[in-house]
Amino acid sequence: MNKKPKIVILGAGYGGMMTASRLQKANAYQDADITLVNKHNYHYQTTWLHEPAAGTLHHDRTRMKIDKVIDTNKIQFIKDSVAEIKKDEKKVILEKGELDYDYLVIGLGSEPETFGIPGVKEHAFSIRSVNSVRLIREHIEYMFANYNKQEEKHDDLLTFVVAGAGFTGIEFVGELSERIPELCEEYDIAREKVKLYSVEAAPTALPGFDEELVEYAMNLLESRGVEFKINTPIKEVQDGAVLLADGEEIKSQTIVWTTGVRGNPVIEKSGFEAMRGRVKVEKDLRAPGYDDVFIIGDCALIINEEINRPYPPTAQIAIQQAYTCANNLKALLAGKTDMEEFKPDIKGTVASLGGKEAIGKVGDRKLYGNSASAVKKIIDNRYLFLLGGMPLVLKKGKLNIF
Ligand code: FAD
Ligand code: NAD
Repeated sequence: MNKKPKIVILGAGYGGMMTASRLQKANAYQDADITLVNKHNYHYQTTWLHEPAAGTLHHDRTRMKIDKVIDTNKIQFIKDSVAEIKKDEKKVILEKGELDYDYLVIGLGSEPETFGIPGVKEHAFSIRSVNSVRLIREHIEYMFANYNKQEEKHDDLLTFVVAGAGFTGIEFVGELSERIPELCEEYDIAREKVKLYSVEAAPTALPGFDEELVEYAMNLLESRGVEFKINTPIKEVQDGAVLLADGEEIKSQTIVWTTGVRGNPVIEKSGFEAMRGRVKVEKDLRAPGYDDVFIIGDCALIINEEINRPYPPTAQIAIQQAYTCANNLKALLAGKTDMEEFKPDIKGTVASLGGKEAIGKVGDRKLYGNSASAVKKIIDNRYLFLLGGMPLVLKKGKLNIF
């Protein structure tokens, strides 16, 4: 009897979970042994992490047990960390073992981009995982709790610096600007004592986004006490301070680093040719020269041919790639060689600003305030619906839409 081919999916993020879910729905487990590997036994929604980081949402709301969404009788789940891919031997080295594959899907996400700036790895926080944001929330609260403990007040305890005013930085600043008044109330601290800086290297926050929407966002955040330092690259992070390129030093015990991402380090360690850890994949999402390896999500780089620049790595694209990847795997299992080409269908961008505020561009329509915030929640719920149907929306969704 012929043995079934082995499909191994690395990473249970947007790309990996959705690939597994699509294969399960298509009964592909009847024709292949499918294994999903992830370093935790839960899937979390990276796109929500700015909320638990600021403390405006409990971190458990962003995560769900993998075996509650994927039927582990049909798709085997292994909780382990991927160390390296030996692509010429068709093998994955895990921290606690190894796996052979016939087809591999890499969906290991990204890590913060430091651009080699000194002190970032040692002294800055990042919005990357459930554990990293839990640490930020606890640390911020600890800063408030400590302030009143000292006879001589240390302003750096209540100075918060967010490096980078891209979408992650702005969404986090939005949440934190909503949370600060609550913390001030809770710890008997006057709001004026707290400083929240958003420091951006480019000449504007959210570079490349619609100017009117950026202005709306900046005005709103400034009205909540956020201080922008635009056109001001950070050149070093020290223990207790950031140094700006214009020579200014901001003393702060809390620097949250959101200056972009690069592909998971496993990609470069495994010898794939990559740009900032992302592999420029073929149109069918396979790695150049490796017909048995699909790469999706933040580890994959695809070019927007209209402007000849890479698409920014987003969950929107990771989810769409999972559909194409699952279709191509099904075709391969059926003995076909014709592969579907991935064509991104960008619906737009919506960014939350904390509370019931958001901005967005969907097609040509600009969205502000409450209506943008409602659309954002609908997008979040739509993902849950695609993954686990209405039961998952009811369990984990944002039901308080307006
Ligand atoms: P991820 O969803 O990050 O998943 C990677 C998975 O791999 C994780 O489960 C991780 O634990 C696991 N993993 C990592 N390393 C290993 C290892 N060595 N071994 C085993 N497992 C491993 N995009 C949008 O489209 N819309 C938004 O509104 C949006 N908001 C965002 C808000 C924030 C705060 C952030 C940080 C990002 C946001 N993004 C948004 C971007 C989006 O989150 C990413 O593009 C998306 O998560 C990429 O999906 P992925 O499947 O590649 O990786
Ligand atoms: P980003 O690349 O979008 O933004 C990073 C920002 O940091 C840029 O504005 C850059 O100019 C700035 N920067 C770089 N170096 C700096 C320095 N030394 N000092 C100060 N500023 C510096 O990255 P991100 O915000 O981390 O987002 C990562 C990805 O996730 C992007 O693709 C983004 O589109 C996506 N995302 C989307 C949403 C959404 O759609 N709502 C939300 C968050 C993230």
